[in-house]
Amino acid sequence: MNLHIPFDNSYITLPPRFFTRHLPEPVDRPDLVKFNHALATELGITPGSALEMAEVFSGNAMPEGAVPLAQVYAGHQFGGFSPQLGDGRAVLLGEVVDQNGIRRDIQLKGSGRTPYSRRGDGRAWLGPVLREYVLSEAMHALGVPTTRALAMVTTGEPVFRETARPGAVLTRVADSHIRVGTFQYFAARGDVEALQALFTYARDRHYPQAETPLDFLRAVIDRQVKLVVQWLSIGFIHGVMNTDNTSVSGETIDYGPAAFMDVYHPVTVYSSIDHGGRYAYDNQANIIAWNMAQLASSLVPLMPDSDAAIRDFTVAVNAMPGLIRAEWAAAFGRKIGLAQAGEDDMDLIGELLTGMAENKADFTNTFRALIQGGGRDQFLDPVVFDTWATKWRERLQDEDDPEAVMRSANPAFIPRNHRVEQMIQAALAGDYAPFERLLTVLSRPYEDQPEAKDLTHPPLDSEVVEQTFC
Ligand code: AMP
Ligand code: MG
Ligand code: MG
Repeated sequence: MNLHIPFDNSYITLPPRFFTRHLPEPVDRPDLVKFNHALATELGITPGSALEMAEVFSGNAMPEGAVPLAQVYAGHQFGGFSPQLGDGRAVLLGEVVDQNGIRRDIQLKGSGRTPYSRRGDGRAWLGPVLREYVLSEAMHALGVPTTRALAMVTTGEPVFRETARPGAVLTRVADSHIRVGTFQYFAARGDVEALQALFTYARDRHYPQAETPLDFLRAVIDRQVKLVVQWLSIGFIHGVMNTDNTSVSGETIDYGPAAFMDVYHPVTVYSSIDHGGRYAYDNQANIIAWNMAQLASSLVPLMPDSDAAIRDFTVAVNAMPGLIRAEWAAAFGRKIGLAQAGEDDMDLIGELLTGMAENKADFTNTFRALIQGGGRDQFLDPVVFDTWATKWRERLQDEDDPEAVMRSANPAFIPRNHRVEQMIQAALAGDYAPFERLLTVLSRPYEDQPEAKDLTHPPLDSEVVEQTFC
């Protein structure tokens, strides 16, 4: 085999109750439809023939050094606790240490049933796999920490959702797949020994400077605060912020029903399973604090004095709304050209957003237009924009180079839902050109690409995607 993956596996050295060693289930006719050469280089992977890579990234053949396993975890799903979840349709092949010295997981998703599948079929169909490929690579190019997509294989087997769909396997790369729910799994069982081993492992891997569980909690909170504000600043709605989908590494993970907002409205929801709007756009800031509270609770058994721990952990979690508010002001300040926005600028930012919501303004295009001083034609009532813009221009007098600040904060291109949907429909009909085009354009989201102007257009009424499905 020419394909070479320089595995260096560490999760496998944790106690056996952290995972089940498990081979992917073979598939009929694997076909490699995409391989991410740039990411492979970063990971030190030597590519092989398309045939070889189809075999490996479908799970039909194990590359040298792979020790496949399914990880166990728990998690709060829509607020209700499930004491045992786990990789129900994924296996970790192993880890590599990348060019920058960072340990990365290589995982197959959609690779068949595992001991944690419950009633699921262990499979994924092509639509969500394409969506995750495009969205995760777009997020990376937008500068947001995220899992990556290394390869995509169709299986030649049907997967039954509402109807028969083509099966697919995504190869996902992550800084790790340790979730808040991984901590919850051991905490809920009172397995303090495993909890200690998990803490040590996750700390060494992600936050080596953290000495105590409190330091660790603060470090995770810091990354999650920044992450959720980055999501808000580009109109991203994760869709399933269950604690098993919240990574302690601070990466965006699990793109099931994820979507980007077109018209700005704070309570936007796309996910078909989010009936109560728990994971609506602007509730993501509240939910991440709730999720960090669950991580905090799980860390308490590691502390010698639980009363003191609860007190310190509560302070750390309660600080989150303030931290998010400050981070949000800075991020949205940059979106209107302010290099260092503060509390005084909150009203100006808030007034724009209120006006946008009331005037059905497109989130991405309104902010992008600000670079040229525009934006009024995004508003149903342009006078509302003008009134705001007068105050805005006055405030910009104090700024050195607002245009440059906005250019790096306001992408021209996001993976719009209707384009993602059209891309999936084309691929189902055998045409991967829209997939390739989206990937290419979205790899440079902050650059004007006049030839791709059509990808900046909001959906026509007939193209609007109301709901996303995982
Ligand atoms: P999610 O909401 O996508 O994060 O998934 C929640 C849990 O359900 C995880 O433990 C998944 O591994 C599992 N799961 C999701 N889809 C499937 C499937 N098709 N087959 C088996 N398990 C699944
Ligand atoms: Mg998940
Ligand atoms: Mg999922």
